[in-house]
Amino acid sequence: MNPLYAEMPTTIFEAMSALARELGAVNLGQGFPDARGPDAVIEAAVTALREGSNQYPPMAGMAELRRAVADHYRRHQQVDLDWASEVTVTSGATEALAAAIFALVRPGDEVLLFQPMYDAYLPLVLRAGGVPRFARLAPPDWRIDAAMLDQAFTPRTRLVIINNPVNPSASLFDAESLALLAERVIAHDAIVISDEVWEHLVFDGRQHIPLMRLPGMRDRTVKIGSAGKIFSLTGWKVGWMCAAPPLTRVIAKAHQFLTFTTPPNLQAAAAFGLAMADDYFTAMRDHYARSRDRLARGLLDAGYAVLPSAGTYFLSIDLPASGISADDVTFAELAVREAGVATIPVSAFYAEDAVRGVVRLCFAKQDETIDAGIARMKIARGLFVSN
Ligand code: PMP
Ligand code: GLN
Repeated sequence: MNPLYAEMPTTIFEAMSALARELGAVNLGQGFPDARGPDAVIEAAVTALREGSNQYPPMAGMAELRRAVADHYRRHQQVDLDWASEVTVTSGATEALAAAIFALVRPGDEVLLFQPMYDAYLPLVLRAGGVPRFARLAPPDWRIDAAMLDQAFTPRTRLVIINNPVNPSASLFDAESLALLAERVIAHDAIVISDEVWEHLVFDGRQHIPLMRLPGMRDRTVKIGSAGKIFSLTGWKVGWMCAAPPLTRVIAKAHQFLTFTTPPNLQAAAAFGLAMADDYFTAMRDHYARSRDRLARGLLDAGYAVLPSAGTYFLSIDLPASGISADDVTFAELAVREAGVATIPVSAFYAEDAVRGVVRLCFAKQDETIDAGIARMKIARGLFVSN
């Protein structure tokens, strides 16, 4: 057996959701909405299941979805992609990450990761034989700075993996941070996997900046997206990766031996959804911004210090600033077991030198769930603070 996996714990998302199910806790841990999702997109999948093909679609994805991805990014992000040579459909962003990492990392290559990092990145890099190097982001602003990059880049840096908007910190990298990064990437002739699955979940009028749009980055960026996040249908596992033809050709070869292809009906429905009018995307953002504000207000009233959330399905609480001296893992354990609310300790997103005073909560929930979560969070605070 491979010790990498034999000794690996189960991911925090699965572990917390399993505990929530077992204990009947309100689940504000793993990031998934508890509403049904957009009817029109679900109906498009039903129609495709009944009337479309149920056989293997092409390995790179159905032309209809690949075209829709290219059109969507042209319309929403001013990124120009050739659907036929630059877009590959995958089984979720997770598979896109795996294919891109396996295709681009040679054993011994250094891979720069920004902590906090999404849980799949490091195991995939290690499985590919990559040597991780970490840059550490910290609250409250989770910014990239020049000194951090100078320390993290070396002559052996081959790949950088970045997530923007960032899960779990709910922050967006500003143009200056991205420019600093792009400058180093170009100087080191490196490639970036840019995990932009949260691209449509940006609030308060903010704009997502696709890394590909920065000068010099168009042909050295692999942009990854996910229908699960765009349509609030996280179980669908339809994703895609976009990259210049020489990168796409190699990454597609890794994809062909991971899942080869992705259910055609869900691809057809994702294509339908990506072409929906702007109203859908605006309403979706407004809806989640309201949910964010509802959870934030309730937590503030309960005595928590809430960190800003500029995007994603998440916001975080700052434990020390909330008068809680326990670390995030202790808090999350007690909160789920004694107060009946599942959350995610942010230290799980660090491989070293973890931030230990921050806990992530998911607000992509119906009002009743949010209110029940707030009530349980009040109880949780009472376990740690006596007034
Ligand atoms: N990357 C990030 C940053 C995520 O937050 C997630 C899921 N929440 C994924 C990748 C995985 O996306 P998918 O479900 O499409 O595989
Ligand atoms: N991305 C989701 C989260 O951050 C979890 C996805 C998963 O469980 N693999 O909560």
